[in-house]
Amino acid sequence: MQKLVEETDYFILYSLAEGVYAAISKPGQGAWSNAGIVDLGEELVVFDSMSTPSAGRDLKTCAEKITGKKVKYLVNSHYHGDHVFGNQAFYDSTLISTSVTRYLIQKKNIIDDVSKEKQEMEDYLDALKVKIQTLDESSIKSSLENQYNEMSKVLEDLPHLKVVLPEVHFEDILILEGTKRRAELHCNGGGHTPSDTFMYLPLDNIVFMSDLVAEGLHLPLYNPEDFKSILEKVKQLDIDTLIPGHGEIGGKDKLHTFADYVSMISDRSQEAVRNKVPLDLFISSFKTPEEFSKWEGTKGIKGNLTTAYTFYADDN
Ligand SMILES: [Zn+2]
Repeated sequence: MQKLVEETDYFILYSLAEGVYAAISKPGQGAWSNAGIVDLGEELVVFDSMSTPSAGRDLKTCAEKITGKKVKYLVNSHYHGDHVFGNQAFYDSTLISTSVTRYLIQKKNIIDDVSKEKQEMEDYLDALKVKIQTLDESSIKSSLENQYNEMSKVLEDLPHLKVVLPEVHFEDILILEGTKRRAELHCNGGGHTPSDTFMYLPLDNIVFMSDLVAEGLHLPLYNPEDFKSILEKVKQLDIDTLIPGHGEIGGKDKLHTFADYVSMISDRSQEAVRNKVPLDLFISSFKTPEEFSKWEGTKGIKGNLTTAYTFYADDN
């Protein structure tokens, strides 16, 4: 049963089992994504470092204060900045990711010229502000507002941001064996990015899915086929509690709902490609099924339809 144990400027910390915590990000404060804290027995593993050095520091401090133990490992689930920009706070921990994720953090997130990056972010945020003012589509509008608030926090922290790369790598599975419990890191390829890791705690039936599951959000798809097969494999696990990368703590139903969403996007896109429906007509005539019509996302459902359509069209 989840129990609120701490609230900080960045997140609300819930206890899920003895020694297992979920840090659920508060909107617009610079955490941007959820994280996990697990007591292995002698030391801790933290899953994802949030979106800013400040939020990462808060997460580490909170983890060590609540448990009285040190963070031995920090895991990066995937390369996206909102999950790894807090890495530098874990300077005395061992950072872990898949080798693909490490490569992508290095390739896409390292900032060579801070003043240039700052200028680009300011320009982007100015343009975003104008776009928000002209929009009346509420689900996209509120997603963009959230992006604006979160990115403004990243911008504030940018002068102090130092992207730290994971030094320990794995390919498909890594077991962190503790005296109290084991944490399993699984990567079955990439659905949301080229490489996505989730953390499973078999003793507790708890899974931290990061951006392989989201709630009420058109989370960007990268590879719809691999996404479906990853989620099918996760369905085989015993799961009582699931923590998505964004959104509230839930159960296995969240996995099923998101798997249904990915399948729907995949099926409809394949059908359009098979019937030779042009992409623009496919998008403009698409009627979002009722159960996903209230979902948010900066590109709405169109972004994922485009990705999936292009994926299957390229396949033909
Ligand atoms: Zn992501």
